[in-house]
Amino acid sequence: MVEKVIIFLLMDGARSDIIDKLLADGRLPNLAKILRNGTYSSITSTFPSTTGPAHIPFFLGKYPGDCNIPGIRWMERSEKTRTQSYTSVYSYLKGNGFNKDLENSSRTIYEEFISASVFEPINKGAAHKIFPYGHFCSHIFNTWMNFDRLGLGYTAYLLRKKKFQLIVTLFASIDELSHRNGCMHSKVLRAYELFDKELGKIQQLLNKLYEDSLIIITSDHGLTDTHAHINLLKILKLTGFRIRSYPINIRNGHDLFLAESGNSMAHIYFEKNKTDKNKENITRRLSGIKGIDLILTKDRDIHIYKGAQEAIIKQSEDKYMYEAIKGDPLGLKSCSGEWCSSNQWHGITSLSNYPDSIVQIAQIFRSNRSGDIIVTAENGYDLRTFEVPEHRASHGSLSREHISVPVIINKKFEITLRRTVDVHALMERYLEAV
Ligand SMILES: [Zn+2]
Ligand SMILES: [Zn+2]
Repeated sequence: MVEKVIIFLLMDGARSDIIDKLLADGRLPNLAKILRNGTYSSITSTFPSTTGPAHIPFFLGKYPGDCNIPGIRWMERSEKTRTQSYTSVYSYLKGNGFNKDLENSSRTIYEEFISASVFEPINKGAAHKIFPYGHFCSHIFNTWMNFDRLGLGYTAYLLRKKKFQLIVTLFASIDELSHRNGCMHSKVLRAYELFDKELGKIQQLLNKLYEDSLIIITSDHGLTDTHAHINLLKILKLTGFRIRSYPINIRNGHDLFLAESGNSMAHIYFEKNKTDKNKENITRRLSGIKGIDLILTKDRDIHIYKGAQEAIIKQSEDKYMYEAIKGDPLGLKSCSGEWCSSNQWHGITSLSNYPDSIVQIAQIFRSNRSGDIIVTAENGYDLRTFEVPEHRASHGSLSREHISVPVIINKKFEITLRRTVDVHALMERYLEAV
């Protein structure tokens, strides 16, 4: 019988400022109860700030780029699988793609402890897995609140078994309802309240059945309302390149492949004619488009463009340098030319518009599946025109609003939490301690 358990509750797309507002209005009484003896901080997620890739740090203690998962869609460059890219008509997230890809990476936390996973797409090694079968129905019939109720029902069922040291549950309704309705819609706020209500039941069970428990409530990314869709596909076509894009992936001699993630970031790949001149042409064209934010490319160094501004990032072992070339795209000019560690850069960037940008941009380019060009949209815009139902909110970029996430824990810890990867270390420490 297990007497000590971690309950990891992932509120997909939950925003700190909305939690703050609802707490202040007294609408999240169970969360408020946890906070009386617990901690509440804002930490940084990862790039892309998208469901799936942004879950990797929690369960592997690594960035998505280091697990070769740079988004939810990409193009395989290897000769053998070159035509495959991302081909499912639904989503890589809902199949077993992540877990298969993670087979080559180090162990997940599920493999270290006796674990169960409820609706979470990353569940490699969990002793008990409940797949999100209701996800598709919820997508079609918009029954997301029922999906979350079901998830909490399963969580309670697993808790009663007293078999698992770690139970991970994903709640999808905040993210999904925000995409459909906008982030502050009453239906979205009701999803936060529903979560709180169900949390109360979990707390009661924990108090009754376990000697000790660690409750972690966090999120994978924020969301911002979208008022305009940039037709990136059309813009690239107008540059004269032949292009294919999800969901029409058939390979028939195109020049470019476009793969978006979270709607606010996209990888662009050259299938052929990858020359510096072509890369430059596309970069120049995109940097003049209203709503396009950052354009990232990599040769020996990483290049960052924002409108007419330009900077580079260099990496040497575990240190990074930012050098402003023209203007200051990331707003870090005061530290231009300095070599700093990843944690120092976290501190330096924490008040900028792009928290942890240096480390996050560097990590995504460590994946050989990353695009030749990576694009992000400004808040308020996204990069897709075709989406059913239409998206009214987006995420995926490096902006503060997308990459900052809340983490609420029912205990006080001495460990410093900067990023979602640190939550992995916290869980290990708690379960390893006698
Ligand atoms: Zn998400
Ligand atoms: Zn989403």
